[in-house]
Parts: sequence; C-alpha cells; structure tokens
Amino acid sequence: MGISRRNFFYGTAAGAAMVISASGARASTCAIPTKERQAVLSPQGVVDELMAGNQRFVSGTMVNCDLNAQVKQTATGQYPIAAVVGCIDSRVPPEMVFDQNIGDIFSARIAGNFVNTDILGSLEFACHVAGAKAVVVLGHTSCGAVKGAIDQVKLGKLTDMLARIEPAVQAAGPVAERSSKNSEFVQKVADANVSLTVEAIKAQSEVLSGMVAAGELVIVGAMHDVATGQITLIN
Ligand SMILES: [Zn+2]
Repeated sequence: MGISRRNFFYGTAAGAAMVISASGARASTCAIPTKERQAVLSPQGVVDELMAGNQRFVSGTMVNCDLNAQVKQTATGQYPIAAVVGCIDSRVPPEMVFDQNIGDIFSARIAGNFVNTDILGSLEFACHVAGAKAVVVLGHTSCGAVKGAIDQVKLGKLTDMLARIEPAVQAAGPVAERSSKNSEFVQKVADANVSLTVEAIKAQSEVLSGMVAAGELVIVGAMHDVATGQITLIN
C-alpha cells in the first residue's frame, strides 16, 4: 500500500491520468499541478478549488490519492496553485482541511497566522517565482495563540510572538472582559487577526500587491471551525 493519510476515505482511483479542462479544473483531483494547468487557472478558480476541497473534507469524501505516485510525478518540479498562511495548531493542517496533496500548495505555519519578513519573503517565492495564484490567510476558532495574546501571557520567546497579535486584540476591542474566557471576543480577535494579516501582506509586499493589481493573484482571509472542519471566507 502506498503512503496515504486517508485510507479511511473512499475516493477516485489513485494515479488516474491527468486531464486539464479549459478552466484548469482537474478531471481527477489526484492529478498533480502542472505548468500548463497553473497557467490556465484563474486566481478565483484556485480559491474555488480549495473551498471545494474543504467541502470534501467536511463531508468525509476526501480523495485518497497515491502519495507515492505524486512524489514521483513532482520530483522534477513543482507548480503549486496556492499558498496558505496558517496556524501551527494540530487541528488545522492546510493540506488536509483543503483536501490537497503533494505539490498542490505552499504552507507557511506560525502560531497565530500573522506575517513577518520571512513569511512575506516565502509568499513572494511561492507566488512570484513558483506561480501560486492565491494566498489564503487561514485562522481558526479556539486559537491558543489568540487566547494567549488576549491574556497577555508571558513566557520566554512566546511573549514577543504574542505581541504580534496585539493589533488584532485592539482592533476587536474595546471589550469589558479582556479574557480568553470570553469566547465571543476570542473569535472577534481571530477574525480581526486574519483581516489585518491580509491587509499587512498587501501593504508590506510590493511584489504581491503588484500581482494583485495585475489580476495575477488574490489574497483572501478564511476561518476554520475546529468543531466542524468547515472553512468560511471572511473577507
Ligand atoms: Zn491557532
């Protein structure tokens, strides 16, 4: 049996021949991205594809691809369709919650899904150099980093890291009860943090904002519900 995280799911046959439609949509979701497919996909088409993948994830109809075959098929190059800025949270692995596989997406993960110079540089590589057409900032419910920022947790390097989320705490306020026990406020901060991160990418990266202006890229925010697996666009 090949490498697979998804042996419990039924799906299309692994290793199916790749066929590309005019819109770039996959005839088989196990087909790896190619230069040709990347070229014909629209930025919005990429977002639609990711959201369709999340629907498969939520409904338990993830495609059980042969990851060994995909490793071989991508050995000589990669043409990913999207880049995700997500939290390190163990419940929100981007490849799984969007039902993507080897070669499909770049994934930058950091507690609290914000950006810094290093992550912006990574996104510029993913989009401008490697051709990804959508950046998704993926927050999630019940985020420990957001809760820690709200509670102003002090611990080693975490203190400085959580300070990066303070602007979202301020944007979501003022609030009578600044506490991680205030679940409504926790979600407000998580939403604000995603929106601020989307804005920060556009404001701080001329490379990426230029691609957006040229219609070559979309940058969207999204929220993952850890209770259901459902992802909702929150732009
Ligand atoms: Zn988190």
